[in-house]
Amino acid sequence: MINESVLRSIRFIKSAKDLKGCPAPDLPEVAIAGRSNAGKSSFINALGLSLVAKVSGRPGKTRLLNFFLIGDHYRLVDMPGYGYAARSGAEVESWRQMVESYLALRGSLQGLVLIMDIRRQWTAQEQELVDWVSQRSMPVVVVLNKADKVGNNEKAKVLRDLKAKAVGVSQVFVVSASKRLGVTEVEEFVFKNWIKQRHGGEA
Ligand code: GDP
Repeated sequence: MINESVLRSIRFIKSAKDLKGCPAPDLPEVAIAGRSNAGKSSFINALGLSLVAKVSGRPGKTRLLNFFLIGDHYRLVDMPGYGYAARSGAEVESWRQMVESYLALRGSLQGLVLIMDIRRQWTAQEQELVDWVSQRSMPVVVVLNKADKVGNNEKAKVLRDLKAKAVGVSQVFVVSASKRLGVTEVEEFVFKNWIKQRHGGEA
């Protein structure tokens, strides 16, 4: 049997600075959020390597919504990172406006993948984002990245703490984007539970 993921590929489509610039909402979408430096770009690139095609031509733009097509089934939407301490109030506000309007108004959105550095604490900012999304009845999974940086005991402790603190998260994955470990499993979960089941998408 051919693995479903082999029949999928990932390709950069376009960037948008606001909702008006987004592609027509004719395919389901999955948003990827995370603090700056959590490894969102690395995660998407690792996925590109495991899903047949390489992610090429990906713009280094951090303030835009970047759209990637996965096979013919759905799009991943890489959202601008949050949490740069150096950012001004106006910059934070423009980030908030873009992200909140996308999350609130994009009818094709199916769920959120929140990428975190496994060494960072779950804060009110992460919980706020999850609350925002779950209020709209959309599922959230957390991806703890940079697992290669911690030992097994630390991993177990982080998972325990996260389960105690994070409210409204349906699944937690532990991955290493740079070592390409666990990345495909996240995509498979998203495809199976958020795309295929709800849309009857065939692989
Ligand atoms: P983004 O700002 O969320 O897009 O983060 P990047 O993908 O640019 O990654 C930020 C930094 O973390 C870079 O220096 C990456 O090489 C590093 N990084 C990303 N993923 C991993 C990982 O799984 N393990 C380790 N050790 N470093 C990683």
